[in-house]
Amino acid sequence: MHTFEFIRPSDPAAAVSTAAQAKTAQQGADVRFVAGGTTLLDLMKLNVETPALILDINRLPLDKIEVTPDGGLKIGATVRNSDLAHHPAVQRDYAVLSQALLAGASAQLRNMATTAGNLLQRTRCMYFRDTAMPCNKREPGTGCPAITGANRTLAVLGTSEQCIATNPSDMCVAMAALGATIHIMGSKGTRAVPIGDFHLLPGSTPQRETVLEPGDLITHVTLPPPIVGSKQVYLKLRDRASYEFALASAAVVITITGGKVTSARVGLGGVGTKPWRSPEAESALVGKPADAANFRKAAEAALRDAKPQSENGFKIELAKRCLAHALQMAATG
Ligand SMILES: Cc1cc2nc3c(=O)[nH]c(=O)nc-3n(C[C@H](O)[C@H](O)[C@H](O)COP(=O)(O)OP(=O)(O)OC[C@H]3O[C@@H](n4cnc5c(N)ncnc54)[C@H](O)[C@@H]3O)c2cc1C
Ligand code: SF4
Repeated sequence: MHTFEFIRPSDPAAAVSTAAQAKTAQQGADVRFVAGGTTLLDLMKLNVETPALILDINRLPLDKIEVTPDGGLKIGATVRNSDLAHHPAVQRDYAVLSQALLAGASAQLRNMATTAGNLLQRTRCMYFRDTAMPCNKREPGTGCPAITGANRTLAVLGTSEQCIATNPSDMCVAMAALGATIHIMGSKGTRAVPIGDFHLLPGSTPQRETVLEPGDLITHVTLPPPIVGSKQVYLKLRDRASYEFALASAAVVITITGGKVTSARVGLGGVGTKPWRSPEAESALVGKPADAANFRKAAEAALRDAKPQSENGFKIELAKRCLAHALQMAATG
């Protein structure tokens, strides 16, 4: 049976210096922070994660939501997903984020799940979660059975020959569209990483999912000031109406003036190996009439590089329709 030590660091610096003793911050880390525990504890029960030391960060002062001096928002790492979704400033100015959070998991899970934990949730690929199976992400070099196996829910964008696992987060897709920044305290100081640079494509190292190094503690996430007059929609398509991960989702933040799109930010979920921002869709939209024909063109552009596997080709058309419909909802909402 796997055994581990469990401690509660007294402040963020103590947490960082203890965690910095880990050999890696990625798959196989021997020291792990725990926040809501809804990813980590599940994976420990499955023996996918086997840390020797767990640092409970729930008592650290990282649970506030505050407006920043520039009019943006600062979201503490341990803010619960439910508190974030229902915060008045989020509902008013970052509706796409509130909608994405409320589309995720269940009310009970959202009451536990945290901002940083959500950023670091792991793929739901069934081979990754089954230690009897090979998996390059869990055990580098063992192979990827999903490529010739059960891949209906897996990714069509950002895949490699080593891994086609989907990033399952809803929250991150909205944060990608909003241009969030991840703030990290590490053993060498603090740094800020745009969300687009935070998650890594699988390439030849699918076990490495983020830029985090041993000791790195996510302290908070910031959102830029809200885009005045923007229309925001998160649309999630899945096999059942709740308590299910996305087959395809779209986060859109657009402004429309005089019938034309004047700014556009587009994120896609359920289809990418990381939370997917689509500059292709954004540039196909800006300056064009806000109509169904152009929304479909933007969706075609977003999925142009999609690569289907044996069972998930349907996701490409599904994602296109999801994005086009989300844009239509935003334009008419
Ligand atoms: C049944 C089920 C259904 C779900 N459905 C959905 C869904 O539909 N959509 C969706 O988006 N999500 C879904 N989820 C995933 C859920 O959103 C995540 O499990 C949750 O957000 C993780 O947050 P947590 O605080 O519980 O993370 P934890 O389990 O505490 O931690 C997750 C990881 O993050 C690390 N970590 C935590 N905090 C920090 C920090 N501050 N700094 C550095 N590392 C940190 C931990 O070490 C761990 O590796 C579902 C989960 C379950 C169990
Ligand atoms: S897709 Fe990735 S996570 Fe799934 S089996 Fe292949 S390597 Fe493992």
